[in-house]
Amino acid sequence: MQTELTRIKNFIGGEFVEPDNIEPATGKPYSQVADSDARDVDRAVAAAENAFTEWSKKPAAERSRFLLCIADLIERDLEKFAPAESIDTGKPISLARSLDIPRAVANFRFFATAILHTESEAHITDNVAFNYTLRQPRGIAGLISPWNLPLYLLSWKIAPAIAVGNTAIAKPSELTPMTAYMLCEIVSEAGLPNGVLNVVHGTGPNVGAAITAHPKINTISFTGGTVTGKKVAEACAPLFKKVSLELGGKNPNIIFADADLDAAIAGSVRSSFANQGQVCLCGSRVFVERSVYKDFVDRFIERTAQLCLGDPLEEKTEQGAIVNKTQLDKIKFYVDLAQKEGGKITLGGSAPHAPNERCRDGYFFQPTVITGLPVSCRTNREEIFGPVVTITPFDNEEEVIVYANDCDYGLASSVWTQNLSRAHRVAEQINTGTVWVNCWLLRDLRVPFGGMKQSGVGREGGEEALRFFTEPKNVCIAK
Ligand code: NAP
Repeated sequence: MQTELTRIKNFIGGEFVEPDNIEPATGKPYSQVADSDARDVDRAVAAAENAFTEWSKKPAAERSRFLLCIADLIERDLEKFAPAESIDTGKPISLARSLDIPRAVANFRFFATAILHTESEAHITDNVAFNYTLRQPRGIAGLISPWNLPLYLLSWKIAPAIAVGNTAIAKPSELTPMTAYMLCEIVSEAGLPNGVLNVVHGTGPNVGAAITAHPKINTISFTGGTVTGKKVAEACAPLFKKVSLELGGKNPNIIFADADLDAAIAGSVRSSFANQGQVCLCGSRVFVERSVYKDFVDRFIERTAQLCLGDPLEEKTEQGAIVNKTQLDKIKFYVDLAQKEGGKITLGGSAPHAPNERCRDGYFFQPTVITGLPVSCRTNREEIFGPVVTITPFDNEEEVIVYANDCDYGLASSVWTQNLSRAHRVAEQINTGTVWVNCWLLRDLRVPFGGMKQSGVGREGGEEALRFFTEPKNVCIAK
């Protein structure tokens, strides 16, 4: 069936705008692809600046109502968003429907209500003065997000930024712009004042860099890879912008012999291969206590081999496609490297047959399990961001803590044990921003979220996000 292609436009000042792509040789437009550049960012800044005065002065309850309305409308359109997200990213439609889109709804609801329950600090200085802290919106926020969880992550930034009274310029990944475009239609329908949210599509080097370099955008919330994060930090530092960086991960998943193995295996299959391993929080380094190593590996492989790889739009599919050829080539490179480093491919290791005719030229890779690698090799240290895990045995608690921390990243970890004291001990010593015990990706939106080491700077979530997007001003009144 031939369907009309959807044209994805920018959303600036409340209008859908198709940026002209100018041919340098003629100075005339030659296409209408939303490959925007610094001029589009300038227009978005002008719109955001215009909107700021009124929006920032609106009572919190009024801003809250807009966000709640946006949440309701996304929820109403779940069955439009889920296939769009699946087509855009290659993820199974069931995952888009159960995780990505509901989480975007939850993000808007969470911050819509959070701003109704904030407190301000007051400090009494002996008998001489009274201090209170005013938290004010900072102005225009630049929000840059990656392709793996497009609407989930973009809404995680947009919702707190505008909830506290900022205006925003958001840039989704050029690889997955569809749900951000659909969000703009929802925002328009919700009647959000023009210019409060502006979405500019285009590449990182064009639009992303223009956002980080723009002198009027004083707050940058970035989620993406560590290499790009460095560029963002470099661009923002001389302009003294407030920056939050949520970056890559190479997360340890530790299974002690005293764990509930059934739960640990089910949880580990999920944490290894959800979204084809393209979740920053995926546990890509699995460590198993030696006495249960063989049992775990056998059962883990048996379960993984049963995952249904298929057309992302089919309901039964559990493993969809890799986002693009570049990412697929990166995965293949690391599987080759693992073998050169002495690893054994225990499962998968190659591209499968196409699941159907429609997907004949698609980018698929089998869930892959590698054993026998040294802990400190490149495969165990560098982020692959695909359906590839390594499994390594360990002998005791002290050893596995060293293994877990032997990595430049520090985003998240999982620990599977029935021993409560051990759980506390290990959690305290692993250098990651989140430690899950007997679970994975169990999220409470109130908790601080972010990474240590090269996984990022700053924290998102709950109170942290409300603080990040506001400027604390101390008012000191003498008695
Ligand atoms: P990426 O290449 O770093 O891109 C992230 C975003 O930055 C995209 O919108 C990209 O635009 C843009 N960008 C690229 N160059 C830029 C520049 N010079 N200035 C400003 N923006 C620029 O990351 P990705 O490949 O999309 O996503 C995968 C990575 O994100 C993985 O490392 C993953 O671990 C990480 N991630 C982290 C978290 C977390 O919460 N810590 C969550 C999800 C993903 P274009 O793509 O359009 O060029």
